[in-house]
This record gives sequence, structure tokens and C-alpha cells, in this order.
Amino acid sequence: MSPYLGEDDVAAMREAAARLVEVLAAPGPDEAARLLNQVLDDTARAPRLTRHGGTSPWHLHVDSRDDAPWAEWFLSSSALALAVLLADHQRVPGGLCASPGCRRPYLDLGGGSPRRFCSARCATRERVAAHRSRA
Ligand SMILES: [Zn+2]
Repeated sequence: MSPYLGEDDVAAMREAAARLVEVLAAPGPDEAARLLNQVLDDTARAPRLTRHGGTSPWHLHVDSRDDAPWAEWFLSSSALALAVLLADHQRVPGGLCASPGCRRPYLDLGGGSPRRFCSARCATRERVAAHRSRA
């Protein structure tokens, strides 16, 4: 993998990120699973362990080769990670922030009730706004 990120890589990673956001925005786990299966079918290969020629600890890759383009690595590994989260918790592995002015994507690592906000900051802002509108 080239350590240099060109403009083409950045554009391709933006497209990859858009596909992942689509997964997080899915209305339920069935649709998220369908989208993830599509991404995995498009980008992922058989899992393999690599040390990048001894320059890193052993770790898992599902892209086509160790020097695959950044966007292929990003999309295939992210899809695998999201698929593991979905299978572990049987729900969409994240969402888009419920704060209307924000809508940033967030990951839901599971355990406890599903998240609705990207951050404590957005959750507090919306709680205060809801409280004021009742007053
Ligand atoms: Zn937010």
C-alpha cells in the first residue's frame, strides 16, 4: 500500500465513505445487512493475515492485496467491521445524529440502548431544546 494519498485516492475514499454512511442510515438491520453484503460482494476477498513484510504486527485484511488502493482497503475493512457489529448486536451498527442541525454519522458499538446522537454535546443540546419547548 503506498503511504501517499493522491487526489484520486481522496475522491475514491469519499465515495467509499458515502456507501458506509448509507449503511448507517439504514432503517433497520435487514436493510443494513443487504447494503453491507453488497459492499462486501463488491470489495472484499477471502480474509488473510499479513505483517506487511514484517513491518507491522499480524492483522486481518479483506482487500485484494497488501498494496490495494486506499479506498478498497478502507471500504472492505470497514464493511467487515460493521458486519461484525451488526451480527453481534442484531441492529444497525450506527446511525445519523438525530440532532437536525448535525446529522453526522456515528458508530453504535452496542451494549445498552441504541444511540441517537453523535456525541454527548448533541444529546445535551437536544434535551435542553426539548425541555424549553415544554416550558
Ligand atoms: Zn450530532
